Amino acid sequence: MTIDRRQIALDAVAPFRKRPLGHFIDGRDLPGSGAPFEVTEPATGQVIGQALDATPAEVDAAVAAAKGAFPAWAATPGAERRKILHRIADLIEARADEIAAVECLDAGQCWRFMSKAAIRGAENFRFFADRAPDAANGQSLPTGEHLNFTTRHPIGPVAVITPWNTPFMLSTWKIAPALAAGCTVVHKPAEWSPYSARLLVEIAAEAGLPPGVFNAVNGLGETTGKGLTEHRDIKAVAFVGESKTGSAIMRQGAETLKRVHFELGGKNPVIVFDDADLERALDATIFMIYSLNGQRCTSSSRLLVQRSIHDAFVARLVERVGRLKVGDPFDPATEVGPLIHPRHLAKVESYAAIAAQGGARVAAGGRRHAAGANGGYYFEPTLFADAEQSMRIAREEIFGPVLTVIPFDDEADAISKANDVDYGLAAYLWTGEVGRALRVSNALEAGMVWVNSENVRHLPTPFGGMKASGIGRDGGDWSFDFYMETKNVALAFGGHKIQRLGV
Ligand code: NAD
Repeated sequence: MTIDRRQIALDAVAPFRKRPLGHFIDGRDLPGSGAPFEVTEPATGQVIGQALDATPAEVDAAVAAAKGAFPAWAATPGAERRKILHRIADLIEARADEIAAVECLDAGQCWRFMSKAAIRGAENFRFFADRAPDAANGQSLPTGEHLNFTTRHPIGPVAVITPWNTPFMLSTWKIAPALAAGCTVVHKPAEWSPYSARLLVEIAAEAGLPPGVFNAVNGLGETTGKGLTEHRDIKAVAFVGESKTGSAIMRQGAETLKRVHFELGGKNPVIVFDDADLERALDATIFMIYSLNGQRCTSSSRLLVQRSIHDAFVARLVERVGRLKVGDPFDPATEVGPLIHPRHLAKVESYAAIAAQGGARVAAGGRRHAAGANGGYYFEPTLFADAEQSMRIAREEIFGPVLTVIPFDDEADAISKANDVDYGLAAYLWTGEVGRALRVSNALEAGMVWVNSENVRHLPTPFGGMKASGIGRDGGDWSFDFYMETKNVALAFGGHKIQRLGV
């Protein structure tokens, strides 16, 4: 069973492994001529292929294709765009197992989570497909003298730049609404996990998306990514990644006044009050930090737990963390897989020493995991206890299976500690009292607050962060607002007074 899924993944990407993975521009495979870089399998450390950094000419070609295809795609009736996007969703569903297996192979994500992630990618396409016919609709804002009405128009060719943590599903959040809005797209996936992006662009072509509407280029951030964000003909950049990369992209796009949408890092608190359903709080806390190998922007990486229940709650946590099943991502029983890359493993590992230096206690894990003996990039599910909010382990995004526990005394203390970070993406709150749930969620500096729940995504709701966690929101109509320009037309009824000068 385990071996079969890996083989399915290898077969799915076989054509791109015989030669380095290039680009997909104007409906065609472009072999590419830039510098190659290696793609490794996180679970084994083996090189599974090479991809090519796009040259400036190749970036230009991708943008030119998107620019050329834009007028016709923007003018395509929404109902027709809807049909094509549903066909993309159909094909994603038909190949969901293959896509999931590719995510296990080159992103090291576990099958138990990825088997649903590809299906969620299809749902993203369906959700925005159904809204395509109404995307241009605006408002009517009449006065006594004018009928004002607004319409929305796709902004133009856009760049979508994505990270490696859940590459396929995450990219569909951006690409589906952009296409539904009538924009054309150049996607640059992360260099550490480029394969599933290739499957998506090919699926879109097979579904009947006209050539040039959706292009994909491979490459590094500082070359291909930079080239895209600086390009004059790219009208907006939808970016998911680290906060410092967001800053760089803002600088790179400043010259051409790029519109940007940023979904960045997080150091999200889960706050557990002593009146909460502690069993459910425990389950949700563990799920939100250790699933997806801890490489999740909305992970509950900081546990703020009320002092009265602190010791008992931490003891239960230690027990459960020690029992997490770490291993082969293709094994459906595996709960925690490898980290994406040796560089990322070294970063995550460095926080064990940082925790000890800061005076925290390593209550579980803290070292490379034995499952990495074959060369894989495994880290033990880790718990830092007795931490304080001032410590680096409580302030910096570690982006691994690492939870930092901090005690708090009362509501005010919980809010102050929760907000005392640069980030503001998500927060989780566990309490049995409705008034407290309202007071605390109102005071939290986070774009999304879940009360008595883990992260459950509902596509019509806004997704995004405050502070260093982002700019803009995805989901519902918020996505269309980003990918479209709003135009107001004011039509005079004809009788209003016009000032007469020079009479
Ligand atoms: P990253 O910022 O290093 O890279 C993301 C993408 O940006 C990659 O494709 C990379 O090649 C590209 N890039 C890098 N430098 C660039 C530049 N100068 N110009 C243009 N593109 C450039 O992030 P990562 O390490 O791949 O991903 C992990 C980060 O992503 C974490 O911080 C995580 O919190 C964040 N993330 C956020 C969300 C969210 O919704 N807020 C979701 C998932 C991941």
